Amino acid sequence: TAALTLPLTTAALPADHLNAALPLEARVHALLGLMTLEEKIGQMTQIRVGKLRGDCDAVPGPLREDCMKPVLVDAKVGSILSGGGDVPAPDPSPKAWAEMTNAIQKYALGTNRLKIPVLYGADGVHGHSNVVTATMFPHQIGLGATWNPELIERAGAATGQAMRATGVFWNFAPVSDIARDTRWGRYYETYSEDPHLAGTLAASAVRGMQADDGKTARLAATAKHFAGYSEPKGGHDRAPAFLPVRTLQDQVLPPFTAQFRAGVRTVMINSGSINGVPVHASRYMLTEQLRNRLGFTGVAITDWQDIRSLVTKHKAAADYPSAIAMAVNAGVDMAMEPSAAGEFTSGLRQVVRDGRVSERRVDEAVRRVLRLKFELGLFERPYVDPAVADERVNGVGLDLARKAATESMVLLRNEKSTLPLAKDGKIVVTGDTADDVRRQLGGWTVDWQGVPEQGPVPKAVTVLEGIRAAAPGATVTHAPDQADAVAQAKDAKAVVVVLGEKPGAEGPADTEEPALTAAQQRLVDAVRATGKPVTVVLLTGRPQVLGSVADADALLAGWLPGTEGGTAVADVLFGTANPSGKLPVSWPKRIGDQPMSYDQLPGTNGGESSKYDPAYAFGHGLSYTSFAVGAPSVPSTVRADAKVADAKVKVGFTVRNTGSRTGTAVVPVYVHQPVALLQVPDKRLVGWARVELAAGAQRAVEVEFSVDQLALNSGDVDGAGRREVPRTAYEVLVEDGRAPFTVR
Ligand code: BGC
Repeated sequence: TAALTLPLTTAALPADHLNAALPLEARVHALLGLMTLEEKIGQMTQIRVGKLRGDCDAVPGPLREDCMKPVLVDAKVGSILSGGGDVPAPDPSPKAWAEMTNAIQKYALGTNRLKIPVLYGADGVHGHSNVVTATMFPHQIGLGATWNPELIERAGAATGQAMRATGVFWNFAPVSDIARDTRWGRYYETYSEDPHLAGTLAASAVRGMQADDGKTARLAATAKHFAGYSEPKGGHDRAPAFLPVRTLQDQVLPPFTAQFRAGVRTVMINSGSINGVPVHASRYMLTEQLRNRLGFTGVAITDWQDIRSLVTKHKAAADYPSAIAMAVNAGVDMAMEPSAAGEFTSGLRQVVRDGRVSERRVDEAVRRVLRLKFELGLFERPYVDPAVADERVNGVGLDLARKAATESMVLLRNEKSTLPLAKDGKIVVTGDTADDVRRQLGGWTVDWQGVPEQGPVPKAVTVLEGIRAAAPGATVTHAPDQADAVAQAKDAKAVVVVLGEKPGAEGPADTEEPALTAAQQRLVDAVRATGKPVTVVLLTGRPQVLGSVADADALLAGWLPGTEGGTAVADVLFGTANPSGKLPVSWPKRIGDQPMSYDQLPGTNGGESSKYDPAYAFGHGLSYTSFAVGAPSVPSTVRADAKVADAKVKVGFTVRNTGSRTGTAVVPVYVHQPVALLQVPDKRLVGWARVELAAGAQRAVEVEFSVDQLALNSGDVDGAGRREVPRTAYEVLVEDGRAPFTVR
């Protein structure tokens, strides 16, 4: 305690850690050696920005010194976050963000003797989405439908640059969970139901976000929510998940592994429980799997208040200090507390003092946090320039957002060549999401539950506006309700119905009815009864059970397409763009089919009820042109002797555009394992080709995958056993073609 009360001056300290010329590990070592237990614990703590300003709690307002002192000086907190909705008040501009993060940094650096910078984090899940003037990209589920890793990398880079311009160097994204149940409210935050597709795209996002732009400190992305968060029972957010080790290792963890390989710097932990064990208290998950098996070396942060949840929700600990001991011993490095800084820091100090947590474990956690801050360059570049923040955020990346939204569109159905529409005559636009920015942008926009009813609304092009702008020669009328729509449709050339869902996130967005409502179906039925061609645009974060809407002339899934959504929808409706999106998930016929995925295990009764029977299958998506895919070729034998990860398989085939206009083909490559001791999915995605071809053009493509993608946990029902690649016969499946190969 002497070290605490004695005034120490910087001048008296050896300052090796401030010497940028020294190797990173030497700086970490030097700094750790100077730190008191209290200072170390502060680095393991993250607090919401609300505690530093306004009324030092929930009421927003300017930063206040008497609010900052208890957090940054007394508790020595090392990290601050804006949870969804925690924005600078009263001015939420990028410039105000930059000034706010700078002011916090200045106060922290001015008051801590070791000059350790604060690390600021926020959820930039589809662009710098807390900032009302930032460009919003499509949500992850839409990006998943693009099957375009380069595009997602660029969107990640744009998001990272916008965040860094405002002094936010930690992005709590991307989500690496897989979409398996449309009843779950955060379904739209995932890329796909398929572990390989989700992992490949998440890794691209990480590479983009973490790319150095040379202008500010670097950024840390987050693989979240480690792990199994997307599979709560019944689809209810944070309900217990029951995951056999086989499912965990073969489906849930691979997307995380892909991001670890891409160098993601942090993970956020699943708030729920697996097999009855809260993940925040699970040494098996946070140390044996995360560290020992998967080799992750970065920082593991809790989700919102989740150590406290071990007491209040999971009832796994009797009091807060016991919960802290459980979580830190399991492997937590930083607590997103986020409100009671003192309670966490004094609780952790208590359990270290009484021996329930070792100083070694504390040092290990703090070393990771310090390493992160050094790696990001925060010691050298703790501040940003508010004068350039607005220009680096506002309106930046609009072209990319439009491209991403356009490529995310999945044309599900197009009877009688309803689409593309002609740009003349009368077009009636109707439906609850035709002209509604809040619904179009979805959750995690300004606030976690979507753009608040009160306050500024982000600029975005709605579908109505997009259609008007794209077809100046047409008479575009907006029919706000069903009666108008029917009356207007009588002399129309085409009707476009835009349907969506209420924005939301987490618990409140869970639903037992991921289906179009009776009112939505009635509207579509009524306009169809006029006999006019009806196109339904679905701006929903998840596949909805369609009911009678399934029979509409054309169906376009546009997901939650972001700022440029309306322009992108219009581009596809009028044929300015040729749709290339493919379903990254299965579109169910019935709610009773949930959870659902194409890689379900084979059923044994062979009857209708156990087969994969979606309305639209994983990978489905129409184009205005047509493609022919040639038979695949593959080497007949693949040797995977020593390092399986190094054994690659190359699949070759041709793709030809057989239609009359340029288009992009996305061709999935699957592997089928005819005989397995265990049940294995009928097919598993191992890669894909994405090729743009002019009418009549043909190209030979090669898709390479790694043999270790075929690995399976080979244990019995208890799930024990090694994860290994069965040395057996396989087939590569490409469209209708197949080619056998053997792994030896
Ligand atoms: C969510 C996380 C998010 C965090 C901070 C939590 O409620 O589950 O995904 O990163 O809040 O906003």
